[in-house]
Amino acid sequence: KIEIPSHVAVIIDTLEKAGFEAYAVGGCVRDTILNRIPGDWDITTSARPEQVKSLFRRTIDTGIRHGTVTVMMGKTGYEVTTYRVDGEYEDGRHPKDVTFTASLTVDLARRDFTINAMAYSPKTGIIDVFHGIDDLKAGIIRSVGEARERFTEDALRILRAVRFSAQLGFAIEEKTAAAIREMAGRLELISRERIQAELDKLLCSPHPEYFRKAYELGITAVVMPEFDRAMETPQKNRYHELSVGEHTLKTLEHVRADHILRWTMLLHDLGKPEVLSEDAQGNLHFYNHAKYSAQIAERIIRGLKFDNATLEAVTKLVTYHDFPFSISKKGVRRALNRVGEELFPLLLEVCSADSMGKNAYARETYLPKLAQVEAYYKEIREAGDCVSLKTLAINGGDLIAVGMKPGRELGICLQKCLQLVLEAPEKNTKEDLLQYYSEILKKSDNIP
Ligand code: ATP
Ligand code: MG
Repeated sequence: KIEIPSHVAVIIDTLEKAGFEAYAVGGCVRDTILNRIPGDWDITTSARPEQVKSLFRRTIDTGIRHGTVTVMMGKTGYEVTTYRVDGEYEDGRHPKDVTFTASLTVDLARRDFTINAMAYSPKTGIIDVFHGIDDLKAGIIRSVGEARERFTEDALRILRAVRFSAQLGFAIEEKTAAAIREMAGRLELISRERIQAELDKLLCSPHPEYFRKAYELGITAVVMPEFDRAMETPQKNRYHELSVGEHTLKTLEHVRADHILRWTMLLHDLGKPEVLSEDAQGNLHFYNHAKYSAQIAERIIRGLKFDNATLEAVTKLVTYHDFPFSISKKGVRRALNRVGEELFPLLLEVCSADSMGKNAYARETYLPKLAQVEAYYKEIREAGDCVSLKTLAINGGDLIAVGMKPGRELGICLQKCLQLVLEAPEKNTKEDLLQYYSEILKKSDNIP
């Protein structure tokens, strides 16, 4: 027996009273059995979209062509979809057409995995023709029907398998896994946006380290070949025994499930294969790798059609991930200035996770330094020290007022004042900075 929200019960009841069948279906049934809170409640019914619309006061035509009507109950919408069979998938992406069917079993058979192919109604109980409950209990992701066929119909299911596996901590059943290995190349057919969404869910799950499965099953080779290179790049040196990719997987477990942090950790070392060099003792070095890693991160994030905010944050964090601090208050103010005040707390988390992914020697070296940086950061914030032009005591207008012309030189001059204040925060007064400005004037022939 399953607890369902009263709205869902009302929708099912209304449809049944009108002579139709109706069930909660898919993810909500799976999650409820697992004692997880479902993201949304979907309903499947023998009623046609027009019939659904006639039974409820407020409905939205969400995907009439695919049989989906959203029924509004209060402020919440519930997707009610007519039993259907997906037509042929002509391109591995879209079913050419959908056909409605009178059979719940036929509708369940089109669903991706057994754990997603269960239905429930208070009247009938759980309908589990594909033994989803057994797989839920055993912790198994298994295709409904012939895995190769199902992945050929819709290649996105390949990524969904790994994503559910990471979200639930489940294993992927052998034949399903074998089919993934065989069909992974078909992910080329899937839009970058949809790949992004699945990878994001995988990374932000309780098991981001399951990204390894995406590598082992040949998925990253298609959607992110740079990761494969990282897995194949050793980095034996003072701080590392693991390969670049293995280190990456470890760092993922040491940041919280925040989308910026997880993507930063995934991408933070991808430039290392580009700059690998070996010294006479056989130690491997990766000089300046953060710059290349940031370039690759930017390319990947753009390629996956992420929003600009994500692009900027991840690229910047990767650029500065490699412990960019000198251990002094001045050094921390400089880092704050370069990285920006909003991103700085995330950078601390990135540096910590990066250290945690290295060997004991690296952890003993860097974690105490990081603690010192954090202590300085706290003091700087409490003192309200200026670390950006926003809070500098003078602005362009002040310099123009004392005779400077607008233009490039003015910006340079403000930057010089800011550099002074980063060194000596007590000098962030109008008086001190205008005094400093007149000293710059005397020394320079460029500035009027
Ligand atoms: P989530 O928690 O991510 O919402 P979900 O199982 O509800 O998980 P949805 O993408 O919301 O996943 O899809 C709802 C249901 O529709 C699934 O449980 C599954 O039965 C079916 N489904 C979704 N996408 C596919 C697909 N690509 N192929 C086959 N069935 C699918
Ligand atoms: Mg869902």
